Amino acid sequence: MTTRREFLKQSAAASIAAALLRPVAGAAQTGTAQTVLGPVDPSRLGHTLPHEHIADALTFLNRWPKDWGGRAEFTAGIIARLKLVREAGAGTIVDLTSYDVGRDIRFLEEVSRESGLHMIASTGQRFFPPQKNLPTPSGTVEGLAAFFIKEIEQGIDGTSVKAGVIKIGINTNRPTDLEQTGLRAAVRASKATGMPIRIHTDSANRAGDSIAAILEEEGMNPSRVSFDHSDGSGNMDYFLGLVRRGYALGMDHVHRGLMPDTVPSFERRAECIKLLADAGFANKVFLSQDAELGGLLLPDEIKDFRSKLDPPEGLAFTTRTLIPHLKQVGVSDRDIHTMTVENPRRFFSRL
Ligand SMILES: [Zn+2]
Repeated sequence: MTTRREFLKQSAAASIAAALLRPVAGAAQTGTAQTVLGPVDPSRLGHTLPHEHIADALTFLNRWPKDWGGRAEFTAGIIARLKLVREAGAGTIVDLTSYDVGRDIRFLEEVSRESGLHMIASTGQRFFPPQKNLPTPSGTVEGLAAFFIKEIEQGIDGTSVKAGVIKIGINTNRPTDLEQTGLRAAVRASKATGMPIRIHTDSANRAGDSIAAILEEEGMNPSRVSFDHSDGSGNMDYFLGLVRRGYALGMDHVHRGLMPDTVPSFERRAECIKLLADAGFANKVFLSQDAELGGLLLPDEIKDFRSKLDPPEGLAFTTRTLIPHLKQVGVSDRDIHTMTVENPRRFFSRL
């Protein structure tokens, strides 16, 4: 006869075996990262680009002209580009295209599978109110939080593909009432699910300061928040104020400093990354390039403003241009590894 103790031992062993065999289609558990193909051990993410856009449906997917081969041709072009990004050393791309700017979750799933790159999709909202008269899931903190939680726990747009990060767009340096609703909803969803938050910020006007005040009112853990587009500032007081409070900085517009007459310059943006590393804050810096990969496939004459802002190397700018420059000005390999591998591994790991 099986004793109670033996029974418990056997059932524990069985549940460990079940956990090892758990299909990737399940929901992300604590300590895993949620990719579009299912939860993965965060140590498998590798070099991660934490703020990118593969292609949105509004501008590209559904409007790709038949003359050019339509959606199938476009998708094949994207996959070919993504393979190059993978060969350049990236392991994971985080796509921060939210529902209101044309996220297409089946497309992301397909290009992840075909390119061999991990991809993390986002819930959240880019504009408050949404652009182009799109209906909003809710105008209240509770309603929006419920929408974000649903996309994390159940899936996006009726699929079982789940979001692994919450993205919020704040266009002003002092969040409007509607933007505050989005921020507070993001905090509630983050607390309910253990997923991190990335915020589009107007760093040139120190938007992080007023956003942090709202996050702190809501009791948000700063180490689960990244203020993206921070390199538009170039002000070390601003940066140090935020990292000392525990926030991370997304340095993802560095290439924009290469355009003539742009302040801060590429060199200054890179210098700030070095100064942060020198001050012991490499663990608070993310490197990315906020590119819209789809734009690169357009012929020059119809490229829009946004496509022209993106670096010519597309998603390979960080590995091909920025990192070699950072090394040249004295950022150590160890700090680069912290910024590109260790920080994302920790940040995208579900609490
Ligand atoms: Zn972006």
